Amino acid sequence: MKRFTCQRCRACCNNIQGNFREEEIKEFKLAFKKLESQGTYLAIEPEKFSIPLFPHEAKKMKELAYRIGIDFSPVPKIFMIDSKTGYSIILEWDLGYSDCPFFDGDKCLIYNYRPLTCQSFPIFPSFLLSSQEEYILLDRCSQSKRYRELNKDEIEGCFENEIKASLLFSKELNRYKTTIEELVEKQLITPLVLEKDRAIKMLRECERANRIV
Ligand code: SF4
Ligand code: SF4
Repeated sequence: MKRFTCQRCRACCNNIQGNFREEEIKEFKLAFKKLESQGTYLAIEPEKFSIPLFPHEAKKMKELAYRIGIDFSPVPKIFMIDSKTGYSIILEWDLGYSDCPFFDGDKCLIYNYRPLTCQSFPIFPSFLLSSQEEYILLDRCSQSKRYRELNKDEIEGCFENEIKASLLFSKELNRYKTTIEELVEKQLITPLVLEKDRAIKMLRECERANRIV
């Protein structure tokens, strides 16, 4: 079987919001409900998830959007409120669009800087889902069904680059998690634990006052 080649069907750049299965959405909700007791909240519902962005990716994409002259405002997805400073700390952003503003109808305008999730598609890191695997092959790609019957080694041969990007995503996520845990442990951040609705209200106030990091 040949290596995976994108057929540019555009399915992964358009209509990208809320493409998870019902049981996956339930799993996300359950996982984030548990995190609320540690002061970590979801700012958007999983039904609205599109492309996850690390803070450095969101920042880079905003710079690129400015340079190429397109409107782009990612939305906070996972956040904490630091009780000492009152600042919102965004742990993960969401692209915030159903149709990606960087897709020009034919190609990605920031191809060399596209986020890790785009680089890994149609491989998806499955760390939040109950899958035992490190990654899953998403059906959303029109080409995925051609690879469905392959064994693990064959899939790894066909999706070498995408799997690398997916594993890098998981590694990066762990790096962020560890850094935040260390900051909390050293009491450099003290996450506020409160009702989720109240936390979201505080996040919106921080957005208005530009108190976001
Ligand atoms: S960043 Fe590029 S690859 Fe990713 S969804 Fe947008 S247009 Fe597609
Ligand atoms: S869905 Fe698959 S084939 Fe279509 S553009 Fe995305 S990666 Fe390429």
